[in-house]
Amino acid sequence: MRPEILNPLFAEIDSLDGVGPKLKKPLAKLRLERVRDVLFHLPDRFVIRRAVRDLDDAQVGENVFIALTVVEHRSSRSPRGPYRVITRDEPGNICTITYFGKASFTAKKQLPVGARRWVAGRLDQYDQMLQIVHPDHVAEESAEAMGKMVEPIYRLAEGLTQPRIAGMATQALERAPDLAEWIEPGVLAREGWPSWREAIAAAHAGENAKASDRLAYDELFANALALMLVRQQNRARKGQVLQGTGALRDKLQLPFPLTGAQQRSIAEITADMARPSPMLRLLQGDVGAGKTVVALEAMLVAVEASAQAALLAPTELLARQHYDSLRKLAASTGVEIALLTGRDKGRARESILMGLLDGSIDIVVGTHAIFQDTVAYKNLGLVVIDEQHRFGVSQRLMLTQKGRVTPHTLAMTATPIPRTLVLANHGEMEVSRLDELPPGRQAIDTRVLPLDRLEDIAAAVGRHLASGQQAYWVCPMVRGTESETDDLAAAEARYAALKVRFGDDAVLVHGQLAPELKDAGMARFASGEAKLLVATTVIEVGVDVPNATLMVIEQAERFGLAQLHQLRGRVGRGSEKSTCLLLRSSELSETGKKRLELMKSSQDGFELAEEDLRLRGGGELLGTRQSGEEGFTIASLEQVSRLIDTANADAKMLVEQEGGLDSARGQAARVVLYLLERDWGVQTLRGG
Ligand code: ADP
Ligand code: MG
Repeated sequence: MRPEILNPLFAEIDSLDGVGPKLKKPLAKLRLERVRDVLFHLPDRFVIRRAVRDLDDAQVGENVFIALTVVEHRSSRSPRGPYRVITRDEPGNICTITYFGKASFTAKKQLPVGARRWVAGRLDQYDQMLQIVHPDHVAEESAEAMGKMVEPIYRLAEGLTQPRIAGMATQALERAPDLAEWIEPGVLAREGWPSWREAIAAAHAGENAKASDRLAYDELFANALALMLVRQQNRARKGQVLQGTGALRDKLQLPFPLTGAQQRSIAEITADMARPSPMLRLLQGDVGAGKTVVALEAMLVAVEASAQAALLAPTELLARQHYDSLRKLAASTGVEIALLTGRDKGRARESILMGLLDGSIDIVVGTHAIFQDTVAYKNLGLVVIDEQHRFGVSQRLMLTQKGRVTPHTLAMTATPIPRTLVLANHGEMEVSRLDELPPGRQAIDTRVLPLDRLEDIAAAVGRHLASGQQAYWVCPMVRGTESETDDLAAAEARYAALKVRFGDDAVLVHGQLAPELKDAGMARFASGEAKLLVATTVIEVGVDVPNATLMVIEQAERFGLAQLHQLRGRVGRGSEKSTCLLLRSSELSETGKKRLELMKSSQDGFELAEEDLRLRGGGELLGTRQSGEEGFTIASLEQVSRLIDTANADAKMLVEQEGGLDSARGQAARVVLYLLERDWGVQTLRGG
């Protein structure tokens, strides 16, 4: 149960004054649904203003407060031209206040001729004249009435304004209670951090490194603690001892010998499955490392021990691919494998459900559908989750914690997670690493080209398709926005252009398509009917089209290295030599260049991930949202890499040496788990 002290923070957002039904939608776009969400919607940056009396004292580019007297209004001759308000300061210097579009309406109301007004905005120069374009604030009285000297700038959505969010943040802060300290006193003293309440208030008020670090640390600490509690709890759970007989595995006729890494992973997994507490293990392996056979061996062990196994894939297409390849690989063993997706209805579905219940189906492959309440198993012993990063932690825990006896869980991921982050993302699991690729893989020829050679590149793609092979074209991300709509617009524009050249050979797939349409587009490409797959970054991980041997990635510098590596892994899956063209913009920083060079020189996902973290953690964030990918929304990547070891150690000490949540500090820590929505461990503690 959530500690009562947090109730005011978990109230609906419309319990704040001035927040009505009209605002709820734009707020939901920013995921602001409860009061606490506003607290943790921290400013992106701050504008610092200076009050000046005389324009001569101000610098061009500076943010100022100034009292100005309105001289006259000038509308433009052309309808789309700017609307200008000519003003003067006290000594008589002229400053133009400029508006574009509908904003002129506001200008007429706020700045009547002859009136004296306080204006806040950025001073610019245009045609030798001083001007302020779209002032941040205009007020009648004094500087104090308008904005602040240091004004937070929040991320907005349409229909919201800075003062609106700032007002909500102020109210939310008034409701923030004093909370007992959860950080280990030694750490707190050494870092000189403020209390949580002071920190959250300070983080909204101005640049404050200590406040920001403390809040980041809270997030890392809560995350580590939650995962450790899940792990501890799991050890106490009742599982099923699954001891394989070897009967089925002996019949398996693989077309290749297993790599050393595969053998080692299989040994680790089967040892876990033979223990009485449920396995929680992550199999990490680069694209193409051969995770599927490892999963198959584990599933066969379950079947040998008279249990069933389920393999969960994030999309229907991937489920189908797994089903096909498992049936082929396991044909000689005689095990019964079924496919179950959300699309199966009626008789077909009924008969699969029967088979799962009476145990005639040994292995089921599918999407979420395999865990619906209506699906009952005779004896589910092992759950394999493929591409597990597509499922959130809470989802992954929920899936496996149904039923009286917890099945063993094997999660698989191709995301090369840097060592420092494995604990943060998967701290509740043991890890097996496939750090060796099957022999004979060819390196992918990777080249970096400037974007302005687009015409040549399209022509090269044309020659490639003419030779009978297929290609991917990953569309640009839109610079300076974080809007999926803008990215989509860019993708559609590129697709339209490519379609002129390639006609129906080109197919477009993006994240906003309905899942059936997305699957249909992917399927057309997989079958070879479409030759060029134009896509936003949603190209499904794990999609396997060996005939696709060319990949073009636009604005490659906007991607994380790990992400580029994942994308590149879509090619190089057949026997033909593959190529990856990274198109970069002309203005590229030194770090940006270095990163793309790395892509040329390394094909090792783990190496790239470590480098990426180092380079990005060093301060430069290119095109990727903070550390959101790593599951953190408050801590920046730089803070993650700097603070994570301490936070992990702190959580560990609490759990292993101080008695966990029952201790005095544990009580306080329990609060932060709920506050930061990492209450998984507490939930399972209660349930189990
Ligand atoms: P991933 O780890 O990306 O899921 P897969 O399991 O799909 O990789 O394997 C990629 C390809 O490598 C498949 O075609 C698979 O049959 C093949 N493969 C797997 N293990 C080996 C091996 N030990 N030797 C040769 N080929 C292998
Ligand atoms: Mg795979």
